[in-house]
Amino acid sequence: MPYLSLKNVSKVFPGARALEPLSLDVENGELIVLVGPSGCGKSTLLRIIAGLETPSSGEIFLDGKKINDTDPSRRDVSMVFQNYALYPHMKVRDNLSFALKMRKYSKVEIAKRVSEATALLEINHLLDRYPKEISGGERQRVALGRAIVRHPKLFLFDEPLSNLDAKLRVQMRSEITKLHMKLGATMVYVTHDQTEAMTMGDRIAVMRSDRKKGEGGKILQTGKPMDIYENPLNRFVGEFIGTPAMNFVEDIEFNAEGLPQIKGISGILRGFDGNIDFSNTVIGIRPEKVKVSKASEDKGSMNISLIERMGAETLVYLDYEGFSLVSKVFSRVEMKAGQKARVEINAEDAMFFNRQDGRLLS
Ligand code: ATP
Repeated sequence: MPYLSLKNVSKVFPGARALEPLSLDVENGELIVLVGPSGCGKSTLLRIIAGLETPSSGEIFLDGKKINDTDPSRRDVSMVFQNYALYPHMKVRDNLSFALKMRKYSKVEIAKRVSEATALLEINHLLDRYPKEISGGERQRVALGRAIVRHPKLFLFDEPLSNLDAKLRVQMRSEITKLHMKLGATMVYVTHDQTEAMTMGDRIAVMRSDRKKGEGGKILQTGKPMDIYENPLNRFVGEFIGTPAMNFVEDIEFNAEGLPQIKGISGILRGFDGNIDFSNTVIGIRPEKVKVSKASEDKGSMNISLIERMGAETLVYLDYEGFSLVSKVFSRVEMKAGQKARVEINAEDAMFFNRQDGRLLS
């Protein structure tokens, strides 16, 4: 049996469907990331696992036991929040030991666990400071330490890095991943940031709620980061995972030879089968698969609207009468905004999605 198992868990708040019935299994020692846009029910799901929210239906099993009726304090689960939730009137040392004191651990055991955690997180020098006397990144480390000292069965993270600046976020992201490897602990990590999901998760569960249809959050796809990147099961997942987002080509017409082309521009699509029913199909193409080169003539070319040089890679934004594409290039780009570029998309690099429901066709 999986270590953590959610079976048909749903949540309806008065006036809001937060989660449709969904199931998820997490193996012992796994770090799974729940990722999706704001309001898709990620935090609600995490809070249900922690026991801070009661599910409207479904069962939750942890380490072989059903925990639906177990009080949050007895679930053996530690949660790390975005706002750190440290006690402001307690020094770091007391913040770290508080939960253990409440559970009547011996002084020797508390000292041992606090010293293990502070060594692991390199926060020994902060023990006698108050939360207001340390930086945001240090506070987040203390919050992690407070979870670690409890030796929980399960760690739950609710957007723990959102309050940090960009550089620190990247640093803490890799620290949590390393921590996960060192502790071998089971972790469920919630974020709306697809880069965090891609880089941290052993597996990712991509969530979405469709408010227009009045639907709460669902899990659209679960899998290893690269499997999801390479084989998104539907258009939403393809677009949400990966940055810049996947390009989509919707306006297809046929040239004199009966081959498909992007409306108004010939020569971009290569190797596409004229038998595909494009009235029902959208082409998806990752930016790194869109090839660009300098165009000497106007035929079959697009306008370069913007170039962003990021160092190792360059993003070339292209448009043609309202249709736009972005290309990611890993070599030096000598072209300039305002120039024309020849663009190439090969059929073997493309994905095909159903126009109506967005599911992957190929
Ligand atoms: P975010 O990334 O913005 O935190 P989320 O994916 O974590 O979003 P949730 O906070 O789980 O989303 O909320 C899911 C839905 O349930 C939202 O539509 C939200 O408004 C609603 N919701 C959450 N908590 C409550 C509540 N206590 N009462 C009513 N509706 C709620």
